[in-house]
Amino acid sequence: MGRAVVKFGGSNLKNESDLCRLVEIVKLYEEPPVIVVSALFGVTDMIKESLKKVVSSTSEIGKLMEFISENHLSIIENYVSSPVIRESLRSAFLYKLFELRKYLLGINCLGKKPECAEDLILSFGERFTALILNSLLTDHGVDSIMLLPEEIGLVTDGCFGDAVIDFDKAEKRVAEALLTDCAVVIPGFYGVSPAGDVTLLGRGGSDYSAAAVAACIKADYLDLWKDVPGFLSCDPRLVNDAFPLELLS
Ligand code: ASP
Ligand code: MG
Repeated sequence: MGRAVVKFGGSNLKNESDLCRLVEIVKLYEEPPVIVVSALFGVTDMIKESLKKVVSSTSEIGKLMEFISENHLSIIENYVSSPVIRESLRSAFLYKLFELRKYLLGINCLGKKPECAEDLILSFGERFTALILNSLLTDHGVDSIMLLPEEIGLVTDGCFGDAVIDFDKAEKRVAEALLTDCAVVIPGFYGVSPAGDVTLLGRGGSDYSAAAVAACIKADYLDLWKDVPGFLSCDPRLVNDAFPLELLS
């Protein structure tokens, strides 16, 4: 079995204990995989909704901070066993949360949300998950590092909100950055423009992030973990008797 890229999405991250389940799944891989993660379930939606109100309301910032810290801090408190890892993770998380708050205050001061700020702010859900999963892996004895799309050179065409990867610019840089034997956790959903701005890859874009990373490193496998029993005949949210297809041509 060669190098695998593994993606966990919001549907795998609905309950507090889910990140621990993901750690167990990661351990099943023979070689340490590259792991691309989404935000916890509902977090991107929540940030997006709040952003609309933050333009004219500072109290909305407090509400969002509370929502995010409640969701994430309880995972940190309840599931990281080493006190040293837990403490450093808690400070790293709070520092990130503080950074998000600064951007939101900026939006509020400006009274409008420039595209570049909106993309940056919406990428925080994934940043939080990656930070926590990376520490949880270390806590469970998995040698792991977190690398951000801006650090590995996941370069896009620069189109805010719905960018595509520029493989000519990204492929070599990503491949070189991921030349490591340990597990790597990467936040999905965004890349960086040639000018260095965060650009989102469209809603649900972490699947695309994972596929792009897999292509860049010529991975042997790309596993997109889902909350359905396989590739279904149709959307199970719309059709009750959707069934898994055994083979796709
Ligand atoms: N969190 C992002 C979204 O909700 C990306 C993803 O889930 O793949 O669109
Ligand atoms: Mg998704």
